[in-house]
Amino acid sequence: MANFRTHFGVALGGGALVAYAGWQASLWTFNEGWPLAVLTAFGGILPDIDSDQSHAIRLIFTLLAVLAVIAGALWLQSRLAPGPLVMACGGLYVGVRYLAGAIFKRFTVHRGVWHSLLASLLCGMGTAAMSFHLLAQPAPMAWAQGMALSLGAVIHLLLDELYSVDLVGSRLKRSFGTAFKLFDYREPGNAVLMLLLGVALAPWLPPWTTLWELVGRGVALWPSP
Ligand SMILES: [Zn+2]
Repeated sequence: MANFRTHFGVALGGGALVAYAGWQASLWTFNEGWPLAVLTAFGGILPDIDSDQSHAIRLIFTLLAVLAVIAGALWLQSRLAPGPLVMACGGLYVGVRYLAGAIFKRFTVHRGVWHSLLASLLCGMGTAAMSFHLLAQPAPMAWAQGMALSLGAVIHLLLDELYSVDLVGSRLKRSFGTAFKLFDYREPGNAVLMLLLGVALAPWLPPWTTLWELVGRGVALWPSP
């Protein structure tokens, strides 16, 4: 199994490459590019969110708490006076960082439902929906950000799978096939729940046509043989 630093580094490298390529192809500006690299790196540690002792879980919930505070402040600033606003933001931080983190730890097992392609896609869709509505990003940018997160998570799954191949003896370790999976086969109920979440998310997503356009422009960049 690849460790935290490997996951973070490889995903950040992959994200930087994609961000750079898209910038060169004027899919986005330089300033729009670097958050994509950061999101890919974040996606690269996301699947290990459910390993209890990991750096990933602490970092992820800290980042989520910061994001919650930013989104909360943006949304509440016109609705609350400065005093209560600061209180609300403080509450949001503590709530997400500690409470949600503790609840999450209690109910998940490592390499469970979050360590799957389905979760990677769902998190990407959630990111796209949030940046489209909460952060008022244009649709192509919202999709790009969602895809960046998913890309990072898929890189993570592939890395774990690579590391389960014993490179010296070229034997397969027992963990082979547990990292890169569509969903957690041991808990199909969770997968159904994730599918339902995905369906519930659909009305909040940026238009699908924008995604196909973006993918089409990305594919067109690929040098044809
Ligand atoms: Zn992992």
